[in-house]
Amino acid sequence: MDGKELEYKGEAALQELEMLTMNAKDVQERILTEILERNKTTEYLSKYMKGSTDISLFKRNVPVVTYDMIQPYILRIANGEDSSIISGHPITELIRSSGTSSGEPRLMPSIEEDLDRRTYLYNLIMPIMNKYMPGLDEGKAMYLLFVKAESPTPSGLPARSVLTSYYKSPHFRHRRPDPFNDYTSPDAAILCADSRQSMYCQLLAGVLHRRRVLRLGAVFASALLRSLGFLHRHWPDLAGDVRTGSLNPSITDPACRAAMGALLRAPNPSLAGEIEEICSAGSWRGILGRIWPNTKYIEAVLTGTMAQYIPMLEFYSGGRIPLVCTMYASSECYFGVNLEPLCDPMDVAYTLLPNMGYFEFIPLEEGIKAGDEEERVESEKVVGLVDVKVGCYYELVVSTFAGLYRYRVGDVLQVTGFHNNAPQFKFICRRNVILSIDSDKTNEEDLHESVTSAKKLLESQNYLLLEYTSYADTSTVPGHYVLFWEIKNIFEEAETPRPPAIDAKLLESCCVAVEESLDYVYRRCRSHDKSVGPLEIRIVEAGTFENLMDLLISQGSSINQYKAPRCVEPGPALKLLNSKVVGCFFSPKNPTWKI
Ligand code: AMP
Repeated sequence: MDGKELEYKGEAALQELEMLTMNAKDVQERILTEILERNKTTEYLSKYMKGSTDISLFKRNVPVVTYDMIQPYILRIANGEDSSIISGHPITELIRSSGTSSGEPRLMPSIEEDLDRRTYLYNLIMPIMNKYMPGLDEGKAMYLLFVKAESPTPSGLPARSVLTSYYKSPHFRHRRPDPFNDYTSPDAAILCADSRQSMYCQLLAGVLHRRRVLRLGAVFASALLRSLGFLHRHWPDLAGDVRTGSLNPSITDPACRAAMGALLRAPNPSLAGEIEEICSAGSWRGILGRIWPNTKYIEAVLTGTMAQYIPMLEFYSGGRIPLVCTMYASSECYFGVNLEPLCDPMDVAYTLLPNMGYFEFIPLEEGIKAGDEEERVESEKVVGLVDVKVGCYYELVVSTFAGLYRYRVGDVLQVTGFHNNAPQFKFICRRNVILSIDSDKTNEEDLHESVTSAKKLLESQNYLLLEYTSYADTSTVPGHYVLFWEIKNIFEEAETPRPPAIDAKLLESCCVAVEESLDYVYRRCRSHDKSVGPLEIRIVEAGTFENLMDLLISQGSSINQYKAPRCVEPGPALKLLNSKVVGCFFSPKNPTWKI
């Protein structure tokens, strides 16, 4: 890759995008050859390739792996061994993904050049948007962007989320003074690690510029909704600050105070009056268009698990402002962009950029959602980017410059079509995830283990957990996990729909036990980011799970193979469960969490 490939190109980037997608096959081969060339002497690749850069040898010899198989290499680097174990370039940071292994966040290698690659993809978004909505350079963008806590590994490499890495980088902080980069949020507010202070200042900056805002959003819809919930609770404070021209004393971060002081230069009672009038006038349906009347679109990831937030965002937008999903990216690699950003969120397809990494695909049976993550993948089954077929489902596999080779990302994608010769994909789901509110991703096994540890508390008090299922409740802000439990007192013989009288303290301690055994990312979201609310156990009447089975069988489940679903979605099953609830119990405290 010559130094120019990832440079800023403005509108010319769109022509380059055409070239890249037209020549997708060649670009992919060139990228793979370069990855192999640069990394051929690494311990990992030389084990399989013996110094060769031959593509067919790569496809025959290098195994398709899950995180567990590469974790030992990554941990060696985290503990101070040289990057050359897996990468031809110095690893500059370990990117903490929201995927976990054994409850701990996965760490992905990253090299300096990756920041250029990520910036390259960000730089494509505005030329694409501008094609459909000219004039976006005539105002501001209110993007609510947040950093997360970071910590060094024993070797001193920072371990942090990919967005934290990006916002702290010179690529973001010294971004081009371009009208498309004109954000309402001061960098100091974005970079403030206290999410409450950060959110307060970013929303305040947003309302101060309310008539200049042309687009608003956050990376994920969950963060946007959480910020809007915060605005709902705190608008009187924001309006007070605007009225007096002085920042609320609860904002103590010195950089935030300095940056906001520069914005709140003088009392502005008329703006404060407008905010108060809008925010206090009854329903918040359509509030976004009233506070920010010139908003042309709302941007956030709304695909995959984030699709659950579409109705809520439509509520706030009044259904009148387009909801736009622009990109698909991960800690491992930034993948692609949506070339038709004004399409319905349910129809979003991402075009993978053939110069971001080397992409391969494991064909999946139609409609596959979960599955055994550890299952071995035969190399010959895996297909290349240009060989995928429209309508088929695949799991994405990526090789990167930084040291991932044939790594299973875990995302299930469906091909919807092609742009030139590059396929476009609908994001279907993450393999094996059943519950997710924010960046937490809980699979069936994790949930089962947590419930198993909690039910020991029940058993010690002579109750049995007969059956359970779960639900990600996003009608609350923040959303929270709900477990439906059917329990029985072992001394109670009679068949009674009345559940045994049960001690609230006992069930609360069950909530605590479940949360304590959920993984690191869940506990961080709960205790630090506050992006997930307290877990709830809903006790249902005796016989409820039999009723649920009858319902699901009437809808086509096989009676022989019936298993209680470990998770339900909105619909008749959830309605049935909710109609049988006899008691709700919430976790009374935050689960333990450390950086
Ligand atoms: P992380 O590595 O923690 O940044 O999470 C990356 C994962 O988030 C991806 O592998 C996807 O599962 C999910 N993700 C990222 N972008 C999108 C998107 N546009 N639509 C749906 N899911 C996404």
